[in-house]
Amino acid sequence: MSSNPDCTVCGEEILVQDLLLCNGVCKSNYHSLCAGFTATQFKKFPNQKKTKWICTTCTTPEAVITKTSDGHVDFAVMLNNIHSQNTELKAFMTTKFDELTSSIKQNSSVIHDLMSTIAELQNSNLALQSKQSQLENENINTNKQIMNSNKKLSN
Ligand SMILES: [Zn+2]
Ligand SMILES: [Zn+2]
Repeated sequence: MSSNPDCTVCGEEILVQDLLLCNGVCKSNYHSLCAGFTATQFKKFPNQKKTKWICTTCTTPEAVITKTSDGHVDFAVMLNNIHSQNTELKAFMTTKFDELTSSIKQNSSVIHDLMSTIAELQNSNLALQSKQSQLENENINTNKQIMNSNKKLSN
């Protein structure tokens, strides 16, 4: 028999590197995949988040209300649950905010690069235009010279 825990969702054995333990009421074991995370997402999980993670069952409002054995609402446990949910939510929001901030920064640097590329293109376009009119002038002069020498020849 293996010493690894079984997954609450699929019932299969969970290897340590794939284990996600709910820090909510149920304290269940999940495969990171069965908990709804891709392998890439899970790899980026900070250790703090792995220990603070709460499953979707435990984040439903009903799950927060914990009753004592005699049927009363256990406020201490309930407050504790709400607190861990808030901590989880705060960590989640912080991560999202950081992601958003850095993506805005990335976008603005992309836009900045684009703007300078456009400016460079405009400059080289101007250079090409003046080169073109220079060539046109040279062409006109050459044509005149040809006409002149033709005149001289015919004289
Ligand atoms: Zn599973
Ligand atoms: Zn749970």
